[in-house]
Amino acid sequence: MDQNAEEVVRSAHERVKRDYFSLDLDEFLSKDLERRRICTDRLCGCYNGETVEKQLKDTIKKYTLFFKSKFPHMGRGTIGKLFESASIRERWADIPTEERGVNRAVRAEDLKQFVNSYCTIFEKIFFDDANRKEKGPDGHERRCIACYKWLQLEFGTLRTDTIKKVIRGIKNHNILAAALLCFALQNKFTDHSGFKPVRKKIRVTNDTWVLFKKCLGKEHARDRARELRDFILDTSIAKSISEKYKEIISELRQGFPKFFLDDGSFDKLVFDQADYGELQDCDKCHGDYAAQFLTTCEKPDGTSEHKFCRNCMRELAMTIEQAFPEVDEKFKMKLECIKDGCNNEIRIDEVSFLYFPRYARTRLHSASLEGMLLQLGHVRT
Ligand SMILES: [Zn+2]
Ligand SMILES: [Zn+2]
Ligand SMILES: [Zn+2]
Repeated sequence: MDQNAEEVVRSAHERVKRDYFSLDLDEFLSKDLERRRICTDRLCGCYNGETVEKQLKDTIKKYTLFFKSKFPHMGRGTIGKLFESASIRERWADIPTEERGVNRAVRAEDLKQFVNSYCTIFEKIFFDDANRKEKGPDGHERRCIACYKWLQLEFGTLRTDTIKKVIRGIKNHNILAAALLCFALQNKFTDHSGFKPVRKKIRVTNDTWVLFKKCLGKEHARDRARELRDFILDTSIAKSISEKYKEIISELRQGFPKFFLDDGSFDKLVFDQADYGELQDCDKCHGDYAAQFLTTCEKPDGTSEHKFCRNCMRELAMTIEQAFPEVDEKFKMKLECIKDGCNNEIRIDEVSFLYFPRYARTRLHSASLEGMLLQLGHVRT
């Protein structure tokens, strides 16, 4: 394509941008320019400004859900929101069964019940005015430090920053609610899908939820214990809160004895090791996973042939060139099956899109823009 023909494409792009001024079209249009530049068929639509304009506008209209809005206050659009959401990383779905071991006594259904009970208790405490400490000119600060020290002591592996963010995110100096959240963080079940109602109540960003997962190393935990050795809970203002907290945990223990170890502490591994039902092989890495955590390729008749674990899907996203967006009320795209020679498709929807980290989501999105343009092809007009 020579300079003049390229100018025709560029001004068609300008017209498209003007019509869709609120959408971020930069990547889409630069990909389009790239592919038209190497078009040598002078009779192709690429050489006709009106055709270029119409093709692109039709595509944008067809796949609106795939385009980000430039103005956040007008709503980010579906894809914008999907990019901002924290990725779903359920550890128990990522570890092959032979590594995590299965505790047949605890079924996925039990986990759901436990998380539901936990959420109900949390909500009650979160909204109970008795747990809110009024802010006075004196006392509050002192109280705050005692509560803070108690949380640091009770949740020895959570980072100081995490504890501060929890207290701030819960507001009203509701330390009992903060302690319950710390319990869930320390025992690593905040990623469970049933935990969403609690996540929604805490005023922290998605990035903060990711930060929350980082725990203290052994040495730092030891340092902290040393720093806190002068703190005496019995004479502290945090004592009554700590007692209420212990009561709640012991109630949970009574309701869910399988979730606790003999010494009364919560069994951290219970979520990782629970029985999630039928096991199947990942067709790529051959690890054993519960069937519900695998993504399958689909034949046109809806039956499936290959199954892949989330780790292998994440790897796939890093090398993917083209994805095929689907027209639907919700965001959906299709990928080619990973298995050589398989012509089936793997579907990604709004939920499974979040199994991918953000950089992989960006890649998948790029690949879907590529897919849209591939569908346009080069047509003689
Ligand atoms: Zn795999
Ligand atoms: Zn397949
Ligand atoms: Zn062309």
